[in-house]
Amino acid sequence: MPERTDLVSELVCVKCGAHHAPTLEYTCPACGPTGILDIRYDLDAVAASMTPAALAARPHDIFRYRELLPLDPTGRRPPQPVGWTPIIDAPRLAEAWGLRRVLVKDEGRNPTASFKDRASAVGVARALQVGATTIACASTGNAASSLAGMAAGVGLPAFIFVPARAPEPKIAQLRIFGATVFRVDGTYDEAWELCQAACARFGWYNRNCAVNPTLVEGKKTGGLEAAEQLGAAMPDWVVVSVGDGCTIAGVVKGLREMHTLGFIPHMPRVLGVQATGARPLADAFFAHADLVPVPVDTIADSIAVGHPRNWRKALLALRDCDGTFVDVEDEAILDAMRLTARLAGVFGEPAGVAAAAGLARAREKGIITADESALVMVTGSGLKDVKSALVAAGPPIDVPNDLKALDAFVVR
Ligand SMILES: *Cc1c(COP(=O)(O)O)cnc(C)c1O
Repeated sequence: MPERTDLVSELVCVKCGAHHAPTLEYTCPACGPTGILDIRYDLDAVAASMTPAALAARPHDIFRYRELLPLDPTGRRPPQPVGWTPIIDAPRLAEAWGLRRVLVKDEGRNPTASFKDRASAVGVARALQVGATTIACASTGNAASSLAGMAAGVGLPAFIFVPARAPEPKIAQLRIFGATVFRVDGTYDEAWELCQAACARFGWYNRNCAVNPTLVEGKKTGGLEAAEQLGAAMPDWVVVSVGDGCTIAGVVKGLREMHTLGFIPHMPRVLGVQATGARPLADAFFAHADLVPVPVDTIADSIAVGHPRNWRKALLALRDCDGTFVDVEDEAILDAMRLTARLAGVFGEPAGVAAAAGLARAREKGIITADESALVMVTGSGLKDVKSALVAAGPPIDVPNDLKALDAFVVR
């Protein structure tokens, strides 16, 4: 392992709390595979270097936050710019749901059309830095397609395990970027186990967020970026959909670091949203208990996770920001898919707009009040799952090629 040139100070196990020197790549040696590490930085050194003036001079992508990433600052990066996705004001959504202000961060605008590019770009950069010659992950779809895209950008071979349920557009992305794709006859949870075993057997660099803490640092850029973009306009709530829990853990961590560094005056509360058919993390949160794996069933394939691997990190993050959970049925997700597109102009995949559905639900339940504001992270593009979009929106109107006949179809 080459000497570190980053500002990482230590690694802390989220299970036993042990502090480790920053020389480990994956999990806590004392706890084994469930001892997920959290990467800590020398925040004084970060503050001295990552000033607003310094940031102003940097490119608008995730690597502008290089002091807060576990990477050699001069190392090789995937060439496709990731991040700096737009935040869109959505007054008509705010009105529909009875909130003071709703903002939507459109993560579908990333190179492979999901939030996962943030993690994959950092993971691929880290793999190159440690001299890996192959990289692997298991994914419900987006982590895979983004890994395939980022790996293609630097010419790193990628091995990817997906469950039988992954939607076709995501499989198409994987194949076109040249990854070796193993479609596992089983659930995401089973594909994940197989990938773990294969990484151990073949020595592949493991991109799975729940064992490799570097990946959550990539996801953290979503929080860092939202904080820099919004500053004092940071809303009361940030809303994130939850599968394995890495995204929400990363977003909270990014917001927390930016709050500590003075970029945002208050720490927003974070609302985690799960599908009703896949809500083990929400259940563990309310039970104040360890996670119990469950069978899952939801159209939101990217959050169809019955055995979230990073549940501790996610629960710690939610407690840190006084956050909470809601869950939403598939019907509510399809409604939100339509409304987010029609009232905010943002087309998200089911797992992406699940966050929007969760915001509406939290407002209904009085968790969020009418005088409050929220930022919704729409984590993936609707083009990732056009079948669900057509279910949400219905078919077009079939008409004859005849102007007169059109009269019967046009409402005036
Ligand atoms: C992966 C993913 C999520 C959830 O992220 P986790 O880290 O699994 O909690 C949400 N939305 C989309 C579109 C995703 O691809």
